Amino acid sequence: MTKLINNLCVIGTGLIGGSLCLALKAADACDNIIGAGRSEETLQKAKQLNIIDAYDTDISHAVEQADIIFVSVPLGAMQTVFEKIAVGLKAGGNTRAVITDAGSSKQRVLQLAETVFPDNGRRFVAGHPIAGTENSGPDAAFADLYKNRRVILTPGDDTDSDAIERVTTLWQTVGAEVESMDAAHHDKILAATSHLPHLLAFGLVHCLENIDDIEDVFRFAAGGFRDVTRIASSDPVMWRDVCLNNQQPILDMMKRYRDELDMLYNALQSGDGEKLIEVFQHAKQTRDKFTH
Ligand code: NAP
Repeated sequence: MTKLINNLCVIGTGLIGGSLCLALKAADACDNIIGAGRSEETLQKAKQLNIIDAYDTDISHAVEQADIIFVSVPLGAMQTVFEKIAVGLKAGGNTRAVITDAGSSKQRVLQLAETVFPDNGRRFVAGHPIAGTENSGPDAAFADLYKNRRVILTPGDDTDSDAIERVTTLWQTVGAEVESMDAAHHDKILAATSHLPHLLAFGLVHCLENIDDIEDVFRFAAGGFRDVTRIASSDPVMWRDVCLNNQQPILDMMKRYRDELDMLYNALQSGDGEKLIEVFQHAKQTRDKFTH
């Protein structure tokens, strides 16, 4: 029986790329998955874990025969990886391949794709799975990561409709719900819901590091502290890259949050319990409305 994908090439076989491979394997949707990336050690590990069928440390060579290329490396590595893909597609005369990515910010990735893939640009479908954990690498990958989770696609104006359809089907096959939106809108929304919270978590743990009672802070940390700081265990390189690649929308959100903190600071300093209760009540109502 013909499978959904003949040759899939996954560049970056960590949490996001590795989980996609495992989920596609569980759905019996690929004939062959080839992994590519930076260190041979990571690729060997991915092969050992049966995430990929084979690997190639030469990214250009790995994509020559691919039908779908999935790029799941940190945003700071995207340009180099895209350039290597472009070389491989040209060498293999491969104009049919659909290229997609998982990067957490989308305007910058779209700009890169437009410059690096002049011949294959219409085959590039920018994407972002709204799923993940604070863990990284092939060991962290698991097949159910995308089940009942959303994936946002931000195709450009002239992206081929059949390329969008292929990427949509790929995500639906692993149990995700696919939505499309404009890249600028994506970056604004994700700055609020994901990027700002990560900065806050890193910042909170960092600001507690230098207080005298740090041992006790962590010894007596209750559920709330763990909930709020879980994502401070995420990969620093990945998050540096997300911040630098979505700079303005994140700065806008940080400014809003700083104003909010100032307002709470002033309310507390002046003993304004009414203000505190008003803010807490509004916040509770808003969260309950959207999460229940
Ligand atoms: P990860 O687990 O750290 O995996 C990243 C992979 O990329 C590793 O295989 C790594 O190989 C490879 N890589 C790193 N630098 C590279 C380079 N210069 N050239 C080639 N390969 C390189 O990270 P992840 O969590 O899967 O994240 C991957 C992408 O998905 C990022 O763009 C991120 O923004 C996005 N994303 C992440 C989440 C999340 O919650 N984690 C959610 C949605 C989207 P080595 O072992 O050799 O470094």
